Amino acid sequence: MRYFDYNATTPVAQPVLDAMLPFFEDRWGNPSSVYSFGHDLGEAIERARSQVASLIGAQPREIVFTGCGTESSNTALASGACHDPSKRHVIMSSVEHPANLRMGERLESEGASVSYLGVDKEGLIDLSELEANLKPDTAMVSMMWANNETGVLFPIEEVGALCRSRGILLHTDAVQAAGKVPVDVNTAKVDYLSLTGHKIYAPKGVGALYVREGVPVQSLIVGGGQEQGRRAGTQNVAFIVAMGAAAECVGIQRAEEARRLGGLRDRLENALMAATGCQRNGSTKHRLPNTANLAFEGVESEALLLLLDQAGFCASSGSACSTGSLEPSHVLTAMGIPRMMALGSVRLSLGMPTTDEDVDELIATLPRLIDRLRGHRPG
Ligand code: PLP
Repeated sequence: MRYFDYNATTPVAQPVLDAMLPFFEDRWGNPSSVYSFGHDLGEAIERARSQVASLIGAQPREIVFTGCGTESSNTALASGACHDPSKRHVIMSSVEHPANLRMGERLESEGASVSYLGVDKEGLIDLSELEANLKPDTAMVSMMWANNETGVLFPIEEVGALCRSRGILLHTDAVQAAGKVPVDVNTAKVDYLSLTGHKIYAPKGVGALYVREGVPVQSLIVGGGQEQGRRAGTQNVAFIVAMGAAAECVGIQRAEEARRLGGLRDRLENALMAATGCQRNGSTKHRLPNTANLAFEGVESEALLLLLDQAGFCASSGSACSTGSLEPSHVLTAMGIPRMMALGSVRLSLGMPTTDEDVDELIATLPRLIDRLRGHRPG
């Protein structure tokens, strides 16, 4: 199996697995217990909190562990949009992950007004349009750091400076950015930042939310006073420890991996464009080093994904099956990419285990499959 879908999920890295296993074996207590067998686990949680904080330039006490990236984003939006009843306007981009878009819809159903900012053909927002949309009752802005489908990077530092100058809270979904590009909550002036474990080589089912000191946060889950009352529920010690170890791991390797994966991604893209005439979707200047989103004219991405699967490759498209028909990705649609091109687009995302050989194999295989789908069977 050759895996080209690291933006969907990553495997658990060996050092991460090693770090978490003792918490399934002899360190299985409840961290809220008064006796040391449980209470001592608090130290492991606090170490993980520091490791996650270091990855994004935060203070450890500003990190809240959650169950996933979706919960982190939902919590940030609910907290920022509801803390002041006189401010019920929220702005987000139209290419956010559903974790944010669906929460925007829920806030609307509860009386908030939400503006969805469009993007240009490169997938980028227009800062002057954002500025024009800010109103006296704007409570918060939510803009992703990096897009999961195209890898396009939003100018979060500029957005942060603008929001800070107007006293508006800023949430950023950094689920795809963390560990791939430098992320610093202070230079970017963000108030909330969402992370998840399973994109940085920790297991699925653990996330973190950065909440700037003094910024309101309201847990979606109420109960015990865990995470200093910011997220109830007995902490998943093993997964939290894993998330800490993973944050440290990707932080150490980030710059070198960005160079290596950027080189592999560019080689892959150039070879596929030369062999198939496919086009790149999204800005090539402002994007993650590991992500390629390619449009193959005359091809349906779902058919290509099936053939790739049969040939032993994993990749994905942003298309979604709704009510029996294939709908193009909301991200590519927002970029103005014609429906047929959007339906022929595939995301290839690379990760730490990706090798030169993986890329060579995909370069050797994918153009043949495209030929087949376009009906040019050789011989
Ligand atoms: N935000 C982005 C940009 C993502 O890519 C994802 C996962 O695909 C999420 C949020 C959701 O994270 P989780 O699966 O941990 O809920």
